[in-house]
Amino acid sequence: MLIDSHAHLDSPRYADDREAMLRRAFEAGIGAILAIGIGEEAIGMDGALTVCRQFNGQPNIPKLFASAGVYPHNASEIDVAHLAKLDSLLAEPEVIACGEIGLDYFHEGAPHEVQREGLIRQLEVAARRKRPILIHCRPKDGTMNAWDDLLEILEVHWKSTGLGGIMHCFGADYEQARRSLDLGFLISFAGNLTYPKAQPLRDVAAQLPLDGLLVETDAPWLAPAAQRGKRNEPAWVVQTAKVLAGLLGVEEEEIAAATTKNFHRLFGFGGL
Ligand SMILES: [Zn+2]
Repeated sequence: MLIDSHAHLDSPRYADDREAMLRRAFEAGIGAILAIGIGEEAIGMDGALTVCRQFNGQPNIPKLFASAGVYPHNASEIDVAHLAKLDSLLAEPEVIACGEIGLDYFHEGAPHEVQREGLIRQLEVAARRKRPILIHCRPKDGTMNAWDDLLEILEVHWKSTGLGGIMHCFGADYEQARRSLDLGFLISFAGNLTYPKAQPLRDVAAQLPLDGLLVETDAPWLAPAAQRGKRNEPAWVVQTAKVLAGLLGVEEEEIAAATTKNFHRLFGFGGL
């Protein structure tokens, strides 16, 4: 069984075939999916929970979990009402994580200072609700500026909670991976690990310990190499797991077992 640790199941791009897409995932051996609740704007952060409740308990569908959070570029929208909504969502048993939150200095969006403030406010809510966090971090090309700021914020505002989290769609260097692991985070690889030009990222992945890794799709984005350009879906996380197994020199079953165990450990489950 594989777990897709990051998929936007509430995306309007699944409006016509969401159930069939989830069934395809189940048939491909995906046992669970963490649905990301950021909506297209902060107001939609309950979308993942809605999908979870719609499908959980139905046969031949992976077990669904949800997150909730405000995406870095929507950080300007964060106000008392949104933080209160986030707080009440994180109290729901299906909402096991706060995210994706973080810093994005690559795209033009919310000012960096606003992103940092928005991140810290959400860390406070997540800490109160004892929920691990899902981090999106993207620096300006050719720099590690967002990573430098992120890791400093996590050192000061998050490390002491001991809750850890996931570095979603990891794309940085070994140093950032190492520091993330030291902060109690898991490193999650998405379909970009399979891209021809991603050799530097594969070199990083090959050096990481099996007990620190997860796989994800970030669906509907980042379809793996074989389906590049298409709408992505959780069934295709298998390809990223296959590439990761090759890099670490282990069987695919071992990747599945390790990433499932890592996911359970982070979220404190005995099993699914
Ligand atoms: Zn995402």
